[in-house]
Amino acid sequence: MDHKDQTINKIKNTMINESFEYNRKGAFCNFCSRKKNPHPDFDEPLIVRDLKLNNKNLSICINCHHEMLEQSNGDKNIFDKILSNKYNLIYLLRKTGVL
Ligand SMILES: [Zn+2]
Repeated sequence: MDHKDQTINKIKNTMINESFEYNRKGAFCNFCSRKKNPHPDFDEPLIVRDLKLNNKNLSICINCHHEMLEQSNGDKNIFDKILSNKYNLIYLLRKTGVL
């Protein structure tokens, strides 16, 4: 791992440390629509954090968060852009009955 990777990982860790909530009853991810921890060894609620997008209160699970973090390489601006693009797409598909 070179120095650049270390920096990215540091940024990622900072962003991962946003307040994720464990064992929240009725936890739901607005991005993947999961309700349960997808890991088969964990029979527990989804690990989520709240976020605000377009004045809507949403939740995102730790899995989706990690996925977008990878895609954005830890860049907060790109991360936010991926987040809002993804949500807008999901919202559109739900509205038109595709999802
Ligand atoms: Zn999710």
